[in-house]
Amino acid sequence: MLGAFSFSFGEGVRRTDEAKRWHSWFGKLTIAAIFFLFFSSHSQAQTDSSNSDFKKYGRCLFGKFNPFKNNVDSASPTPPWSSENYRVEDNKIYILPVVVHVVFADPNKAAGKLTDAQIQNEIQVMNEDFGKYGDYNGGSLGVDSRIRFCLVEKDPNGNPSTGITRTYSPQGKMTTANEMAVKNLVRWDQRRYLNFWVVDQINGSDNLAGYAYLPSSMVTQDSIQQEDGIVVNHKFFGRNTPLNINNYRLGRTPTHETGHYFELLHPWGDDEPGPPKCGDDKVDDTPPCKGQFTAKPFPSGDSCNHPWQCNNRRQIENFMDYSFDNCMNTFTQGQVLRMRKAIRQYRETLISYPNLVKTGCYKLWNDSNAITENQIDIYPNPATSNLNFYFFLKEKQNLSFTFYDALGRLVEKVDNIQAQTGSYNLYLPNLKPGFYSLLITAPDKTYVKKVVIGER
Ligand SMILES: [Zn+2]
Repeated sequence: MLGAFSFSFGEGVRRTDEAKRWHSWFGKLTIAAIFFLFFSSHSQAQTDSSNSDFKKYGRCLFGKFNPFKNNVDSASPTPPWSSENYRVEDNKIYILPVVVHVVFADPNKAAGKLTDAQIQNEIQVMNEDFGKYGDYNGGSLGVDSRIRFCLVEKDPNGNPSTGITRTYSPQGKMTTANEMAVKNLVRWDQRRYLNFWVVDQINGSDNLAGYAYLPSSMVTQDSIQQEDGIVVNHKFFGRNTPLNINNYRLGRTPTHETGHYFELLHPWGDDEPGPPKCGDDKVDDTPPCKGQFTAKPFPSGDSCNHPWQCNNRRQIENFMDYSFDNCMNTFTQGQVLRMRKAIRQYRETLISYPNLVKTGCYKLWNDSNAITENQIDIYPNPATSNLNFYFFLKEKQNLSFTFYDALGRLVEKVDNIQAQTGSYNLYLPNLKPGFYSLLITAPDKTYVKKVVIGER
């Protein structure tokens, strides 16, 4: 029996309510963090680490310096993630819509001087780093993660946007005590946007470059923590900006933090009490290494020497190590597997086709030749009476839909659905709850989908 089918064009993404709960600073904050040593620009000639000008800098908070610290390892639910026990399921380009919130305490100083061009440049840097291309990614170990970033063109209300917000507030001088105050100033739905907050300072000095949260600590099926996102000191945003700092001038801090945002750990497995020991990051093609990497200060640090540690050459070119920006160029295949798995597990709403349309990132997706083959997604699944289809087809196609029940009986069929790109709603009032196989027949291919109809 053929049931009633109705297709309607529309945007089918589900808006998720922001979690209403606010959380205290401590207790749930999980962040991988880093501190590394380096000389500030005015003290680069110093070589004595006891010198008072010698400062600790960090891409992210770490260890005893990290007031956000939680157990990073316990936040990683399914280690180890390796090429042996996890296989890439697709070759899609995952595009992350990005919004950059600049929060500054003085418009004439610090973050207030960060230009739109410098912010756009950082997005370019991230795309080069994650894409293994450009002038700074010539190393031999890294691979293209097939993850890309789009500075959005639409705000949460659908209005045109540069993808950059600017907020004047004394909170721009961020401390551990006011993280939520900063993020409460401006925050876009974290299920739809990767939120960067670029601030004057973090914890009272320019020494801390940034921090992020592992998605396993932030995201559940039903909620997302309001801290989710990445905080960066403005000096570390953009490549070779006038605000940038010698050894960290290539914009690799946001790259590193975004690695955490995708569930990557530091290569040494992060800190434990006591002397550094050989540790690892639960990725099988990043060699174990010992403790935080302490780079030599600029300019000699630019030599990018590799220490021999734990029977391995330390992979200081890894974006997740502490080495200087000019030494970095590598996400390994194992790291890429872990990141892409994390995106599918925790951040899939960001990369969904409807969200890319809503955020204005669809064009990039299209331009990037993202889909090497035609794609049809279904959401939600399980469904009740409505199935949303997301078509992304290279050209307009005439599709047929056939539903078979668990016993192989044809229960629904509809022909002559004209589709190319867009969302379609399918109303299924006659399908009883249960499991179905859906064959979508196109002129050149048949797609097989499993569909679950739940109780209504
Ligand atoms: Zn880190």
